[in-house]
Amino acid sequence: MRSLLNDLQGLRFDREEKTSELEILIDCLEVVAVAAGEKPSHLQGQGMRSRSFMQAIERVTVAHGLNVMHTHPVPTHYHRAPSYDADFFAWERQRERDAVAKESYVLWVFRDRELEPAIRAAVEGRTDVAHVLGYPECCVRENSELGIQYSEARVRAYQTEYGARATADLIRLTTANARVTISPADRPHFRHVYSHVQFSPCRACAESPKSPAAEINWAMKRLATRLSPAFERAIEKAAKAEAAAREQKSRRLRA
Ligand SMILES: [Zn+2]
Repeated sequence: MRSLLNDLQGLRFDREEKTSELEILIDCLEVVAVAAGEKPSHLQGQGMRSRSFMQAIERVTVAHGLNVMHTHPVPTHYHRAPSYDADFFAWERQRERDAVAKESYVLWVFRDRELEPAIRAAVEGRTDVAHVLGYPECCVRENSELGIQYSEARVRAYQTEYGARATADLIRLTTANARVTISPADRPHFRHVYSHVQFSPCRACAESPKSPAAEINWAMKRLATRLSPAFERAIEKAAKAEAAAREQKSRRLRA
């Protein structure tokens, strides 16, 4: 595990959009957690990405005997249908599927071959990512719910601000990217509670030090400390720097 971490930390790459130091460190920690059997898989390149970092990770993980798989990015998983026009919802989903199909690949790193069908199911949107990424069901579910509530607020705004009635109106406004006012309460936001994981904990998990999300964060922290105290210190330092930057940004917004 230590030699894998050393190889990952020694990677040279072009940062491109991936400028978060903490995110890069946690990517490395997650790959080692996969090798150690503490996490089913690691997903690289969803959201903020650096192609050269992804390629570098792939080279190292393959050299260390881990399995890799390339897929298109993971589309939104809906645990329930939104409360609006079903035809519009079907159009939205197809639009997203078409969009991700055109995007360049993401990288999955995993240890056990048997996980492959489960990864495919998540990539096809048939299941959520909780099982394959080892995230708590409650947190994944709440994030899905917040995303749906945001979509519902957007459709309500199309109706109240633009008088949208038919499916065609909703499609036209979405295609035109029509501006709407959505209250902050209806916008999903990332809860920055845990520094060693890359998912946003649900409200219940965020508030309890014994929650499933907290347990995962502790396990990752223990793994980092066991591997290298210097690595763990680097994570703590990057987490503090990001928290300070967030605080500064919110102070600027309030001013
Ligand atoms: Zn949770």
